[in-house]
Amino acid sequence: MGQNDEEERLLRSVALRNAQSILVARQRAEEDLVRAKDALERKTRELAHSLAVVRATLSSIGDGVITTDVEGRITALNPVAALLTGWSEEEARGEPLDRVFRIVGGDGRHPVENPALKSLREGRVVGLANHTILIAKDGTERAIDDSAAPIEDEQGQVLGVVLIFRDVSARRKDEERLRQSEAQFRRLADALPHIVWTARPDGFIDHYNERWYEFTGFSRGEYGDESWKPILHPEDVQRCLDTYYGCVLSGDLYRIEYRFKDRRTGGYRWFLGQAYPVRDEQGRIVRWFGTCTDIDVTKRAEQSSRFLADASATLAELADYESTLHKVASLAVPAFADWCTVDVREAGGSMRRLAVVHADPSKVQLVHEIFRRYPPKPSATHGVMKVMRTGESDWMARIPEPLLAALTKDEEHLRLVHELELGSYICAPLKSRTTTHGVLTFATAESGRTYDAADLVAAEDLAHRTAIAIENAKLLGALQESDRRKDEFLAMLAHELRNPLAPIRNAVEIFRAQGPPVPELQWATEVIDRQVYQMNRLVDDLLDVSRITWGKIELRKERVELATIVQSAVEASRPLIEKWGHELTVTIPPQPIELEADLTRLSQVIANLLNNSAKYMDQAGRIWLTVEREGGHVLIRVEDTGIGIPDEMLHRIFDMFTQVDHSLERSEGGLGIGLTLVQRLVEMHRGTVEAHSEGPGKGSEFVVRLPVAAAAASRAPDGAASDVGKVVTPALRRILVVDDNWDAADSLGMLLRMMGHEVHTAHDGPEAVGAAAVFRPDVVLLDIGLPKLNGYEVARRIRKLEGGAGLMLIALTGWGQEEDRRRSKEAGFDHHLTKPVELADLQGLLAGSEPS
Ligand code: ADP
Repeated sequence: MGQNDEEERLLRSVALRNAQSILVARQRAEEDLVRAKDALERKTRELAHSLAVVRATLSSIGDGVITTDVEGRITALNPVAALLTGWSEEEARGEPLDRVFRIVGGDGRHPVENPALKSLREGRVVGLANHTILIAKDGTERAIDDSAAPIEDEQGQVLGVVLIFRDVSARRKDEERLRQSEAQFRRLADALPHIVWTARPDGFIDHYNERWYEFTGFSRGEYGDESWKPILHPEDVQRCLDTYYGCVLSGDLYRIEYRFKDRRTGGYRWFLGQAYPVRDEQGRIVRWFGTCTDIDVTKRAEQSSRFLADASATLAELADYESTLHKVASLAVPAFADWCTVDVREAGGSMRRLAVVHADPSKVQLVHEIFRRYPPKPSATHGVMKVMRTGESDWMARIPEPLLAALTKDEEHLRLVHELELGSYICAPLKSRTTTHGVLTFATAESGRTYDAADLVAAEDLAHRTAIAIENAKLLGALQESDRRKDEFLAMLAHELRNPLAPIRNAVEIFRAQGPPVPELQWATEVIDRQVYQMNRLVDDLLDVSRITWGKIELRKERVELATIVQSAVEASRPLIEKWGHELTVTIPPQPIELEADLTRLSQVIANLLNNSAKYMDQAGRIWLTVEREGGHVLIRVEDTGIGIPDEMLHRIFDMFTQVDHSLERSEGGLGIGLTLVQRLVEMHRGTVEAHSEGPGKGSEFVVRLPVAAAAASRAPDGAASDVGKVVTPALRRILVVDDNWDAADSLGMLLRMMGHEVHTAHDGPEAVGAAAVFRPDVVLLDIGLPKLNGYEVARRIRKLEGGAGLMLIALTGWGQEEDRRRSKEAGFDHHLTKPVELADLQGLLAGSEPS
């Protein structure tokens, strides 16, 4: 084989490989082509779909859409845009945007820049709700909102713009309608006589009507929604805020009374504020509708009438009239006046400012100061002095400045009066039938209130009633004074009556001691004894009542058994009961009943009731004294078959000096104070007493109810009680008897001598001291009420004499109160006896004294 063959074989194999490669490559290219074709088809399909979506979107969307190229020429226009502009897509495509989308400004039709062109130029979004008007091809105008956005490629290159706009004319119409109805509402609100306001659901006040600006003098918007703040009374602010926002939260009706400053008068006026929530169909609050109504006149009338009623009630209390007047003045402020004064005429004719009450306490001083520095002249032409002079009211709705200047004395006076901010005033006389007692002055200041004729009538009426109350109080005072003097007189009388009784009793004792008397003399002695005893009882009663009246009686309470009390009472009344031949039945429970009581006083109570039964009953009647226990109380019942008590007298029977029949002739008849004593003593024992009777002739029943003492603690043996009844044989003594009543001194002296004692008498203080020094007595019986030197002083001096410290000093006095006993003890007395002295008591004391 030749070289050519080899070359040829080589060439062939190369050609074959090439051909194979070409084939492979071609095959690959074909496959790539198929793939590319597939991809292209897919892309085309996707694009077509997207375009269809865009087109469908554009044609179905409610907004108008126009797109332009970078030159601002229209590339597309959707059906809504075609409808609104009046251009079809074919007509519009390629047209400059300004021709198709012609707009002017909504307010005032001023030229406006096309937002799409602006967006194209600036490469940003422009517009939105910009209130423009689109003028269609046929000249139709529509309110639109528009906006535009640039179309950019992936590198941010601006390719054109898309303009979107919508017809808002319907909405604009709604808004316009709303605006008009709002304006109409405001016109209506302005026509209302009240202040009217509205607020948003959150409470923000967004409108006040014209009345508000007239009343406040503010200009619209001056204080925003808080324009109530500067004029609301400071005391009402918090209350109003709390209530208002409470209602805003709860949706409840808002209703409250408060005070607004009145710029014309500078004072405050009362208003009623109300607000109602306005709700939509779903019940949501969309607005608050509020009103402020001036209720000043009614509110003040209401306050005035409440004041008048309260003041009248105060007058009826009839306490001491000065405090009553103070109270009336305080009630007047602020209900009826900003300040009130009460001036009264003193006994000498001068005027006294009794009360000053001011709404502002710092001004009270000012009123006082003006009165002190510039006292009103009796000849004054206005005010208090004029009213005192004429007895007629003086009033003024508003005091003119020139008058104020004329009435004041100098610059300083005028300055002080100005500080009071005096507005309106009424000076009403406190005039009763006979006298003008003073003047009641009401004045207004910061409240800005002015008095009218109705206020004058009210003030005069009150002043008149006040005057009557003053007169009544004065009469009552006089009555009480005379009552006091009567009580004082009674006390004196009883005391004075007691003194002569002592010597009479002593004289009787002397008669008795004289041995067997002639029968006539014995009879006379008994008569005197009985009558003195009777008189003594009356005087004791009289003394007791007046002591109770003066609060001077003191109980000596101890634990006592009721049976002891009853026994002692029965003993005391027995003579009278027996004298009239009555039958007494006493019933006491067997168990002991203990009381915390004054034995003497309680037996006096029961004896009084028994005596009354005996007195007010025909001969041979029946009396029942029954004791019953009822829980923690004991009932002591005294019943009789006597003359009874008429129904109308039952409630008065315990009053002092009350007697059913004054003419009733009974030797034991009293003064009408026995039951008064009974009642007061029982009350002092925390008990009660009642009278019952079926009427005249039907007998009477008195029931005393007393608390039983708490369970008894073991009692110490009562040493004193065991001494009672012990027979005492007195040792013979040297006795000095001192009394300025000669009969008393001498008769007691004679009695003591008859008992074997050595007696010396003296009749005044110095004489007593002298006698004590010379006579050197073991015992001195010393009266307290002595001339020249009283008994206390005499006692002190006797104690200082030689041997004076050891002798027995016994006070003899008409006054046996704790206070008197304390004083005599302080003065150095050993014992204290009340007159008339019971011989047994004196003997007891003498027996206990040691001869010096
Ligand atoms: P006095 O007995 O001193 O008049 P009292 O205060 O004890 O005063 O009694 C007042 C009056 O009450 C008596 O005057 C009498 O009219 C009436 N009275 C009291 N107790 C009785 C009684 N048991 N029965 C009828 N009347 C009585």
